[in-house]
Amino acid sequence: MDQAMLSVVRAVEAGATTMKGVIDATGLSRLKIERALNALEKQMLLVRDSRGFRATGLPKSAPLTRQCGSCNACCDILEVAAVDKAAHQLCKHWRTGTGCTIYDRRPQMCRAFACAWLQGHLDDEWFPAKSGIVVHFSQDAVNVTVDDHCPDRWREEPYFSKLAEWSLNGIRRIGNRGYATLVVSGANRFLLLGRTVVPEPTLSGTAFLPLTADTFRFWRATSAEHLQRLHERIVEIERIRQEFGSCAIPENDDDDPRAPYRPALLRLSGHA
Ligand code: SF4
Ligand code: SF4
Repeated sequence: MDQAMLSVVRAVEAGATTMKGVIDATGLSRLKIERALNALEKQMLLVRDSRGFRATGLPKSAPLTRQCGSCNACCDILEVAAVDKAAHQLCKHWRTGTGCTIYDRRPQMCRAFACAWLQGHLDDEWFPAKSGIVVHFSQDAVNVTVDDHCPDRWREEPYFSKLAEWSLNGIRRIGNRGYATLVVSGANRFLLLGRTVVPEPTLSGTAFLPLTADTFRFWRATSAEHLQRLHERIVEIERIRQEFGSCAIPENDDDDPRAPYRPALLRLSGHA
């Protein structure tokens, strides 16, 4: 985190919720503040909405005191298009004992990269060289990439509970710049909904309904219209739950409900 970002975070934490408030508190130019705000939003440390600026539910960044040290996980596990590097393939520019042999002219995406452990968001057991898990933030996601030597490590503790916690934070903020928690392990992709794992989420989106405080029933959509219908049915399920105290939830993973949703749900629930 650079000095401008640090100043902006401190100003927001001290109660500045508007651009003017941050300018007054930091003495920085509007341009510098705008850049810092964008970077903080990307790292999910701050949100901007109609109520102004707020620090987020994600853990706050510790000062950047950590060093990569013996780790080269991102130069191995992640795909780096700028140097034509596939995932799970050690970069051709990496040499044992030297590290990155093109360090001074490494691409921007390598320069800009700092995993969540390096940023101080995660405890020591997440050190990527030991855990085999690289976590990084993008605009609207927590991205979790797992070394193919330990493809199920993310399902173990303490990792899974932490990812489930982040996922719940992201879901609670949906509609207010929420974020998804995505796991990539080899050829497999997963979306986390709290402690519920959605295998191979579709690009059209996943509709979901809470079952308990941290588990969900989900349906993977095959199109934007399908997603819309699934959401409409979820609204109706919630309505029936409020009216009758319960509503049966359709079991089929890939069903495509059609309006009107209420009669079928009432029949299924025995309320008809
Ligand atoms: S994965 Fe994180 S700790 Fe490891 S080399 Fe990359 S940035 Fe550094
Ligand atoms: S260019 Fe250097 S920093 Fe970038 S992936 Fe390769 S070894 Fe790592």
